[in-house]
Amino acid sequence: MNRRKMLRYAGELLGAGSLGAMAWRIFSSPSEDAEFIAQSRRFAWQIDPDKCRSCGLCATACVRKPSAAKAVNDQKKCSNCVVCYGHISDSHIASEKIDSEGQRVCPVDAVKRTNFSGGADGMFLYEQHHDECIGCAKCVKRCNEHGSASMFMIIRPDLCLGCNECAIATACPHNAVLRIPRESVDNYRGDYWFDQTYLMGGGA
Ligand code: SF4
Ligand code: SF4
Ligand code: SF4
Repeated sequence: MNRRKMLRYAGELLGAGSLGAMAWRIFSSPSEDAEFIAQSRRFAWQIDPDKCRSCGLCATACVRKPSAAKAVNDQKKCSNCVVCYGHISDSHIASEKIDSEGQRVCPVDAVKRTNFSGGADGMFLYEQHHDECIGCAKCVKRCNEHGSASMFMIIRPDLCLGCNECAIATACPHNAVLRIPRESVDNYRGDYWFDQTYLMGGGA
């Protein structure tokens, strides 16, 4: 699946979710400008992974602290390698030492590694835990430069405040943050590629 398609799905997901933070913002403040409210209901900010260059500004530019931008791993594209470039930086380390001694790429150790086949040289699941992820894009950068490019950045719709002018969009040097329409979802099954829990609650 190409990333353009992912962006479309992200839009569909945005339309599908019960966006708690957004709903709170829209419905709780009587002082909100009516036009802004209408815009917020129709559009949402999202990152185009084809344009994003993992510059790191997503971590600091967002008005939310920590950022509403998070990294995710497309599990259909990930190679489930013994060594993940988005997980550790010392890629020549012995397999059995990766978990205990591998030098983490992530500054907050939010990229988690789970063995699902058994053995030190088996197959591994890599997930970004969003309770810890600060959106620095370091894992995404290394995965795109050295790995299967399965990792990419998103703006979580349930965390995003739906600012009229997204501070990340303003700061992004690659114009990778777009306002995309919310769309209804009629193809949740089939090739829908990532677990909604990534975006809609608690995360991986
Ligand atoms: S600011 Fe733009 S290029 Fe930098 S990580 Fe965010 S979306 Fe990607
Ligand atoms: S390196 Fe860690 S904090 Fe940075 S985007 Fe990846 S998971 Fe999030
Ligand atoms: S719209 Fe606001 S809360 Fe959402 S990602 Fe942009 S700066 Fe952060």
